[in-house]
Amino acid sequence: MAAEIHAFRCLEDNIGVLVHDPASGACAAIDAPEEGAVRDALEARGWRLTDILVTHRHHDHIGGIPGLKARTGCRVVAPARAAGHVPEVDALVREGDRVRVGGLEAEVWETPGHCADHVSYWFSAERALFAGDTLFTLGCGRVLEGSYADLWHSLERLAALPDDVNVYSGHDYVLSNARFALAADPANEALKSRAAAAEAAKAQGRFLIPSRLGAEKATNPFLRAGEPALARAVNREGAPPLEVFQALREWKNRF
Ligand SMILES: [Zn+2]
Repeated sequence: MAAEIHAFRCLEDNIGVLVHDPASGACAAIDAPEEGAVRDALEARGWRLTDILVTHRHHDHIGGIPGLKARTGCRVVAPARAAGHVPEVDALVREGDRVRVGGLEAEVWETPGHCADHVSYWFSAERALFAGDTLFTLGCGRVLEGSYADLWHSLERLAALPDDVNVYSGHDYVLSNARFALAADPANEALKSRAAAAEAAKAQGRFLIPSRLGAEKATNPFLRAGEPALARAVNREGAPPLEVFQALREWKNRF
């Protein structure tokens, strides 16, 4: 039986996700931004929480943990580098570790750049990548710790996965990301139609999460830092992709 995955908005613009294994009844929340929203999503589907997989230590990803743990006794899995910052942790994970959720299995990838402790969870059998605040639909996280090179290498690594992978990001910044992407890459036809789809989705109360990795590679300016058009957009023709990436990210910070 295939996993069932449900993404929903919570807090201001966070995305909560539940990953349910119908065969075993296990269900993982990817991060726990807010207890109430996660509980409502569980109740609406009749799912029982067994695990919380934390991508990084920022408060808007872990604030719901104490309440959910108290009510459900779920296991809390967090990055080893976030030890001491995430409450109620049962298991610490590092690069290459495998995490089971019932019959489902995720591989842990350390993807620093947004912050030093950030990990992504890759469920290869489900073709689902939980990228937290590393890779967003049409955008990427801010570099809050570490270097631009850290985040660039994390993004390059995620982008090497196949085009049919579904990417679940930690925030719905789709519209603001689309507006920046159009400014950076105005001649990109695939981007224009995706930006229009993002606006239409918003008008219907939906959001473009998950996103197909193939679509991100074609339209996300931060994954396209190696393309001449993006280098031109930041006046760095011929520069290495990392330099173009940094210039794009700094521009987005001011956008
Ligand atoms: Zn964050």
